[in-house]
Amino acid sequence: MNIFYKRISDMGHYPTRRGSEMQKKIWEWTGYNALESSVITREEPGPGQVEIRILSIGICGTDLHIMSGHADFSTPPLPLGHELAGFVERVGTGVTQWQLGDRVCIDPLIGCGTCQECLAGNKHRCIRSGEIGLQFPGGWQEFLVVPSTNLYKLPDSISFAEATQAETLHCCLGGIDKLAIRLGQHAVVIGDGPTGLYYVQLLKAAGVSKVTLIGMRESRLELGLKLGADVTVNLRASEAALSEETQDIVIDAAGNEASIKLGIELLKRGGQLLLFGLPGKPILVDIQTVVLKELTLLGSTNAPQVWPRVIEMMASGSVQVDPVITQYYKFEDLDKAIEFARNEPDEAIKIIVNNK
Ligand SMILES: [Zn+2]
Ligand SMILES: [Zn+2]
Repeated sequence: MNIFYKRISDMGHYPTRRGSEMQKKIWEWTGYNALESSVITREEPGPGQVEIRILSIGICGTDLHIMSGHADFSTPPLPLGHELAGFVERVGTGVTQWQLGDRVCIDPLIGCGTCQECLAGNKHRCIRSGEIGLQFPGGWQEFLVVPSTNLYKLPDSISFAEATQAETLHCCLGGIDKLAIRLGQHAVVIGDGPTGLYYVQLLKAAGVSKVTLIGMRESRLELGLKLGADVTVNLRASEAALSEETQDIVIDAAGNEASIKLGIELLKRGGQLLLFGLPGKPILVDIQTVVLKELTLLGSTNAPQVWPRVIEMMASGSVQVDPVITQYYKFEDLDKAIEFARNEPDEAIKIIVNNK
């Protein structure tokens, strides 16, 4: 099933150069909330592959869920890390479009490349697909070998730290593309994490007149206002600050039973609910209301086609990533970054681990 992983493990048999320059430091998730670092031999990029010197890594809520066993799609030991940017270090045979020193971000999704979904450009719907840092070895290492077709070139105006967020943003933009948005509509974003803050900006860029951000943490809601939200609602402070049946669009970026219930209540008849947050377990949804209000429910994950537009939006300033980044750590302190993210969820919005 796992073609890419197999290729990487096969590389242990390839002749490699000796010496410390061919070693790399790696952080692996080894079990419940456990991380171990070690030094291993760098893999040779095979045909059609490229070795990337990983310079920036975004720490994602998904990483924390995997480490605590709340996600069933990953098995330890595994280096995690799917929000990645760096330099092209070495290229395998047959790779002509990349050269040493190219600044890139990495699309972590790998499809089989041969099924109908892959051929149609929908590798995220490929039943044999997997992701770097989820099913395949991720970027919690100094060097990572990836397929050459999973890279996007970065303009100089986008820093490596910012570029890690192209991954998160591309998922969000894929969700926006699924909605039928009309100028002048009203929308609500539920969830004040990085994706909620990105969705606020994308909705405004898409022409929504009034965006309300609903969350639970005052500092993040304040940031939401700076990034374009017209109104914020702190669920910890106020109960019924929004009236039912007032919204054309709701984006659920929280992913729990209460948030989805709230979204259904807030939508006007004929409204659209984008389901983006992952509940992690089956939840109860009031389908009777969905039917009677004629709501459209949309699920959304990755969107392989939108990467170039995400990079364009970042470069042009249509979406801002920098204000969402709250802490920086060094690669050798990746364990401390994870610990901080786990223990200080109010303070840590987006943590970036830099290796340079
Ligand atoms: Zn992520
Ligand atoms: Zn496929």
